[in-house]
Amino acid sequence: MADRLGEPLPTPIFEELAIIGVGLIGSSIARAARRRHAARRIVLADHSVGVLERAKALGLGDVVTDDVARAVGAADCVILCAPVGANEAIGRLIAPALKPGVIVSDVGSVKGAVVTTLEPILPKHARLVPAHPVAGTEYSGPDAGFATLFMNRWCILTPPERTDAEAANKMRAFWEALGAHVETMSPTHHDLVLAITSHVPHLIAYNLVGAAADLEEVTQSEVMKFSAGGFRDATRIAASDPTMWRDVFLNNRDAVLEMLGRFNEDLTALQRMIRRGDGEGLHALFTRTRAIRMGIVALGQDTAAPDFGRHAGETDELTS
Ligand code: NAP
Repeated sequence: MADRLGEPLPTPIFEELAIIGVGLIGSSIARAARRRHAARRIVLADHSVGVLERAKALGLGDVVTDDVARAVGAADCVILCAPVGANEAIGRLIAPALKPGVIVSDVGSVKGAVVTTLEPILPKHARLVPAHPVAGTEYSGPDAGFATLFMNRWCILTPPERTDAEAANKMRAFWEALGAHVETMSPTHHDLVLAITSHVPHLIAYNLVGAAADLEEVTQSEVMKFSAGGFRDATRIAASDPTMWRDVFLNNRDAVLEMLGRFNEDLTALQRMIRRGDGEGLHALFTRTRAIRMGIVALGQDTAAPDFGRHAGETDELTS
């Protein structure tokens, strides 16, 4: 993907940025923030020794530490970039160490649970601005990150009502500096939208690939050897990080179940069309769905190029 991140900012948005969890998303934020000079100093913390060693070797931050509480002490912005299920433990560790007025944000793929988990734990002086960059790949870890991951992608902010506008505006400016478009919505609405655009598609991919693996009449080697485009695309999505996705489904249960209910109804209708030989009905639906794909391409959220397997460095979006 072309590197179109702009020139370094004349004045950084944050004096000190602490990133907790230096995986795909955390390391991409560090890379992009450094490139754009969006933070004067970047402190990275993770609980994994191997991740910290890689972060040091890659030169991703000014300070790299396993001490999560110490990492946030001087930060004016802290971004939690571990899987959503780790937020409570991390929140409790950092809460006593946060400096007055700090902005606390995250990148979790669900938002309602993040707000209800973090709000009661954080000190009253901290300003919570949850965020979800709708950008990612099926890869994990610090080596998988890249500075242009957020270019031309959407980042959704879900600040609680009590958070002041200045904090939300700073996070907006930060994500815009990283190349993202920013939209604000309620956590509930976010979780509903993402349930249908990301969470249910992942569940379907996990189920499809799992069902193929369990088939008795077809061997696994046949599944791999004869995998057609649709199945191959599903395997790419089904290769996504198991921990992250377990946490997404455990923390967005209601919206996912609601969308799955509708999905099942529509699937039953499709089943009926096939059974009754309703070619007209099938054709009408497939025409509508093709228009949605064209709309996504027209909005610049994917290219019209045929995808016979993305090339290295082009895995710029997937999820989530
Ligand atoms: P990742 O590559 O697996 O990175 C997460 C990092 O956090 C790992 O290094 C992990 O270490 C570390 N970690 C876990 N628990 C921790 C704790 N208690 N304290 C400190 N560090 C901890 O995951 P990711 O793909 O960057 O995803 C991170 C977040 O971004 C998730 O909340 C996800 O919902 C969100 N997100 C992901 C995508 C995507 O496509 N991947 C897109 C948008 C948003 P270990 O692996 O050793 O546990």
